[in-house]
Amino acid sequence: MPLKTPEEYEESIKREVNLYMFGEKISRFWEHPYYQIIKPSITTTKKIYELALIDEYKDIMTTTSHLTGEIINRFTSIHQSIEDLLKKVEMQRLLGQKTACCFQRCVGYDAANALYSVTYEIDQKYDTKYHMRFKQYWKEVQKHDLFVAGSMTDPKGDRGKRPKDQQDPDAFLHIVEENDKGIIVRGAKVHQTGFLNSHRALVMPTLAMREGEEDYAVSFGIDTNVKGLTMIYGRQASDKRKLEEGKIDVGNFKYGGQELFVIFDNCFIPHQHIFMNKEIDFTGELVNRFAGYHRQSYACKTGVGDVLIGAAALSAQSLGVANTSHIKEKLIEMIHLNETLWCSAVACSAKGFKRPAGNYEMDMLLANVNKQNVTRFPYELVRLAEDIAGGIICTLPSESDLKNPDTSKLLEKYLSTNSILPTEDRFRLIRFIESFAMGLTSPSYRTESLHGAGSPQAQRIMIARQGELEKKINLVKEILDMK
Ligand code: SF4
Ligand code: FE
Repeated sequence: MPLKTPEEYEESIKREVNLYMFGEKISRFWEHPYYQIIKPSITTTKKIYELALIDEYKDIMTTTSHLTGEIINRFTSIHQSIEDLLKKVEMQRLLGQKTACCFQRCVGYDAANALYSVTYEIDQKYDTKYHMRFKQYWKEVQKHDLFVAGSMTDPKGDRGKRPKDQQDPDAFLHIVEENDKGIIVRGAKVHQTGFLNSHRALVMPTLAMREGEEDYAVSFGIDTNVKGLTMIYGRQASDKRKLEEGKIDVGNFKYGGQELFVIFDNCFIPHQHIFMNKEIDFTGELVNRFAGYHRQSYACKTGVGDVLIGAAALSAQSLGVANTSHIKEKLIEMIHLNETLWCSAVACSAKGFKRPAGNYEMDMLLANVNKQNVTRFPYELVRLAEDIAGGIICTLPSESDLKNPDTSKLLEKYLSTNSILPTEDRFRLIRFIESFAMGLTSPSYRTESLHGAGSPQAQRIMIARQGELEKKINLVKEILDMK
């Protein structure tokens, strides 16, 4: 059975890479003191491997590969039914509940599902061989239970200019050379979720390319330690708290995400790993389908929201205000908002459909509505949690003061509330809520909700396209007997 244990996964990503962090090159990152900062993101992705081996979660976390017939981690699957689409979002809510952060493996999962149908359609039109290649590539991913990142976002340079008109042609990743063995690409991908702890990445264009931009219409698979690849680790708020001795001040000290800037400096891609090569007319579809799947994936935030609601409720109990009517109202509002997010995640999955390639896709309009909701509701959820927890989330002394014999008794005396939580646990809870509010959950729960899987405007463009305004106008005309 091709399921890695969490330990096997952790060992398998200990490979030398060209990584920079805080101005230092740290190729053997797992041996460096900064591993303390990286580690929570790896503990998080290990959780995916761990849950897949536990009987209670197998139905959600694993499935049977339609390519090999073997049991695989759901994150390496290609959706074969509406049920698969629904189980995907259930899995994402579950992982959000278990980690309270971004668990990073969805991006490659979504890229694979988008590429599965798009490569099939390119082949139908141009008699190319991308779909067969992709299936071969993905069989290896399934066989070795590989963690695959998804790379879409280019730096984009001057936003007012097309890729081909940029002053620096590398502002968008592109082909710089082609030979009988493959292609050489140059450029960068930014905001790369889970790239360092991935074995491979699926690279895609960032927007629909036009005539003259053929070299930018490229998609391929790449190992994350190949020659020419440079990673620069993204900074998170208060990340160096993770280097301190205690754990309390980190908030969510066990789990977290990771974001990187990745530079592709003349990387060689062999033919068998290329899934699109200059077919500009399919770039828009690839971008839209990937974005649609990833906007469905933001079901993850419902799971994280569950934890935040739990933290706010526990905070209310520890303050002795759980039965106060306005607190109850605020908790109801939080649940309502979070379940509204869930409604759109479930709806876009339930209304999925089958592509000619045989795989299933979510409903595009509803997936965009889902992500648009996610750009808003988590802000209100955090506001309400902050309201309930109180101003202490930004005034609380440090763990060191709690542990210092000179001040510990004073903090104990003046910060104890009731028997629900000992003072040290109150510190833990306050810091945990702070980590949501101030963006310490790496990446920030709120900013990621806003910009992940595309900024709000990107969804509004899709909502406008899919909203069928004319059809709605015709409904009026029909009822009123207008011509
Ligand atoms: Fe998955 Fe959510 Fe992280 Fe995106 S933000 S990779 S959907 S957990
Ligand atoms: Fe994301």
